[in-house]
Amino acid sequence: MEKIHLIRDWEVRKNLWREAGIPWQFVPTMGALHEGHASLIRMAAEMDGRVVVSIFVNPTQFNDPADFEKYPVSFELDCELAAESGADVIFAPSAHEIYGGHVHAEPADFGVLTKTFEAAHRPGHFDGVVAIVDRLFQVVEPKRAVFGEKDLQQIAVVKAMAVLQHPEVEVIMAPLIRDTDGLALSSRNVRLSAKGRQTALALSQSLIRVQESFKAGIGLGSAVEEARRWLQAQEGLNLAYLDVVHTNTFESQPNPTQHPCHVICAAEVEGVRLIDNIVLSKRPEPAIVS
Ligand code: AMP
Repeated sequence: MEKIHLIRDWEVRKNLWREAGIPWQFVPTMGALHEGHASLIRMAAEMDGRVVVSIFVNPTQFNDPADFEKYPVSFELDCELAAESGADVIFAPSAHEIYGGHVHAEPADFGVLTKTFEAAHRPGHFDGVVAIVDRLFQVVEPKRAVFGEKDLQQIAVVKAMAVLQHPEVEVIMAPLIRDTDGLALSSRNVRLSAKGRQTALALSQSLIRVQESFKAGIGLGSAVEEARRWLQAQEGLNLAYLDVVHTNTFESQPNPTQHPCHVICAAEVEGVRLIDNIVLSKRPEPAIVS
């Protein structure tokens, strides 16, 4: 696996593949890789051609500077996991390399998608996401890009952006990966104490309850209300939202008649922001790692 830090070195690699008629898939990450990221890389490696994984902690998508400062960094371990999972290139540019001298994100407006839920709770977050994904797509020029269901609103925003700005890139969604106890894998989980981790489990537990009520045909409105009340009663957990939305538009769906829909939630535990979601359909359950 090749490690590339400069755009000009990436251009050389890209041109060699292009001349050889080899396509490449792309998995953008902020590093601190775990099994969730590995599953995306493995999915990309099963497609035709090569796999490029970017590692870049994007400053413009952090609405909270303290969160950026504390973001875990583990470059050498990341390279090992990426290589084992099937990556051919790690592209890890500096902020200066990727943004030029001006580390900045223009406001992004994709209607409801960039106004509600994560957008409302993290002002400027999706401006940064759109800026970096747009720039990375320009530089990397992949055939396909794989994003995780874990960041459901992010993938909806990226798809909306790509349709307009990068119609040649196919954006693929890979399933959300959980730990054996049900916690959605996240680079931020390492910042939770053992007690905080126990508290955080309430998120996936409440989502499963709502999903089961839906499958059983029990009123979704009351299941959502009950889940919210239960989460609000958890000591040490600060609920931001729990709602049912259309998977692609993020319009609230209090009485979903059309699929796909997800139950989405976000909360803070020990100062760590956690998000989770679960699909409301008869699709197979999300994968569990052991
Ligand atoms: P991040 O490094 O957190 O920006 O995430 C990079 C990519 O990995 C994004 O597309 C995420 O949605 C995805 N990802 C992160 N955690 C998980 C997970 N638990 N399951 C599936 N995909 C994930």
